[in-house]
Amino acid sequence: MHVLKLWYERTKTALRALVYPNRCIGCGIQTDGVPSVPFCAACMTQVRQASAYRCPECEKTLMQCRCVRLGAAELPLYSLFAYHPKTENDAVSRLLLSRKTRLQPAVEDFLAGQLSTLCACAAAECGGEADDWILTYPPRSRKKRREVGHDHSEELTKRISRLTGIPMIVCMERVRGADIAQKTLGARERTENAQDSYGLSARFADDIRGKRVMLIDDIATTGATLSACAAILSEAGADSVIAVTLARTVHEQI
Ligand SMILES: [Zn+2]
Ligand SMILES: [Zn+2]
Repeated sequence: MHVLKLWYERTKTALRALVYPNRCIGCGIQTDGVPSVPFCAACMTQVRQASAYRCPECEKTLMQCRCVRLGAAELPLYSLFAYHPKTENDAVSRLLLSRKTRLQPAVEDFLAGQLSTLCACAAAECGGEADDWILTYPPRSRKKRREVGHDHSEELTKRISRLTGIPMIVCMERVRGADIAQKTLGARERTENAQDSYGLSARFADDIRGKRVMLIDDIATTGATLSACAAILSEAGADSVIAVTLARTVHEQI
């Protein structure tokens, strides 16, 4: 029985590799590297470069930098790599963009693996017991979710939850009708739009009280979405909130 199962698993993996060859998420070329790393060597170098970016204030890498506090509530931000808005054709920009339109489980697994380490560091630094923490994310609009068939932040958070053992609670909601994309707005409008766009799902109100919340998202630009969600969670009785994102927008050349 065991041999049969092993044979089945191996055949399945071989067939999958044949039908869906391992392609680099950054540039699309076929790679023969390990399937768990979704980049070719050249794109992986660019991703490493974006993680090696040093904060101009503290001169530490983004994973170690604790300079950024978002919004009036001074929400602490933890990020993996730097994103520069003017470089549109590098591996990090293409990675961020491709996640929004297509669900690629290998990519989400890879990113969740990286982000889980940062989540564990953040939890250890902020203190509290492991049971005090929960994970959540700002969801996409219903319309967008219907269009693309998935919510990339949900996919990522689900995997981080599996890897870290921190429970995920889908407690944030999009307010019906609020559907203006943040990227089309200026800084002040982003804050107002974010405040109008999110709410707390009433059935989870009890699960939030007294908890330490990690808000997971793909990118922090002005931080308007994350700080609006953090304010809602704090109002609902969360003990503390921190934001953990894949990327942080920076304005210096990477
Ligand atoms: Zn590549
Ligand atoms: Zn810093």
